Amino acid sequence: MPVTVVTGSASGIGAAVCKVLNAAGHRVIGIDRGAADTNVDIVADLSTPAGRQSAVDAVIERCSGVLDGLVCCAGVGVTAPSAGLILAVNYFGVTALVDGLSEALAKGKRPAALIIGSVASTQPGADSQPMVAAMLAGNEADARAQADVLGAPHVAYASSKYAVTRYARQKAVVWGARGMRLNVVAPGAVETPLHQASKEDPRFGEAVKKFVAPLGRAGQPDEIAAMVAFLQSDQAAFIHGSVMFVDGGMDAMVRPDRF
Ligand code: NAD
Repeated sequence: MPVTVVTGSASGIGAAVCKVLNAAGHRVIGIDRGAADTNVDIVADLSTPAGRQSAVDAVIERCSGVLDGLVCCAGVGVTAPSAGLILAVNYFGVTALVDGLSEALAKGKRPAALIIGSVASTQPGADSQPMVAAMLAGNEADARAQADVLGAPHVAYASSKYAVTRYARQKAVVWGARGMRLNVVAPGAVETPLHQASKEDPRFGEAVKKFVAPLGRAGQPDEIAAMVAFLQSDQAAFIHGSVMFVDGGMDAMVRPDRF
């Protein structure tokens, strides 16, 4: 039975991933903030270095140092209390888990990790924000300070997803030689509490509601989880370092000439 860690397991896409992986025969170790939530085996705040380390330590203990899968879903959106917090969870809360659990994954059976990115990573200008370089350099204090000074949560969100996708692409090249896979799933709008909060936000709600994919609807968490389950399975054994858009055609609409 493969042992797979899922972060952000209590809600939305993470909860759907837990359901589909459980059904596929995985032993799932869920990580989220609230002890009372469902699918939560390890309570940790992934926005802080101490919380991330406690999560890594608790996973190593529970899996006895041998892990087969990791799916990083935990994330916050544009309604987060601060722009810096968006980077703390969406970039540093992901990379600390991927790095911290890499040796346990190296001991696993056909190990595979996956990061939930976003179609927002392709937003024009996200790639050229100076905070991206600070994230990729691992300079959390600097990156958070830049995001807070800029005070534009939508830019921080897009930049955090761009940076974490670049991190994954770089890591994939190194991991391949060890037989460890790493992919990114980039969802478009998906009906979850995070998306609902964005739609209700007075600053961004109208823009979020107007940004409709060619398929004419938002996705369901199960539709993202199905791709995650496939990528984590042996059927996807040759898929590595890829960014899979599951977005109802949003990326094709916005960037028809880039692929
Ligand atoms: P959600 O709010 O339903 O779930 C996110 C989960 O992450 C929650 O359970 C939350 O408690 C957890 N989390 C947040 N901060 C945390 C922290 N500091 N420590 C531990 N856990 C924390 O949202 P969702 O839409 O399911 O989001 C899942 C992922 O999908 C996120 O990375 C998000 O950026 C990404 N995404 C979502 C959409 C969308 O439209 N819903 C689109 C693209 C990408």
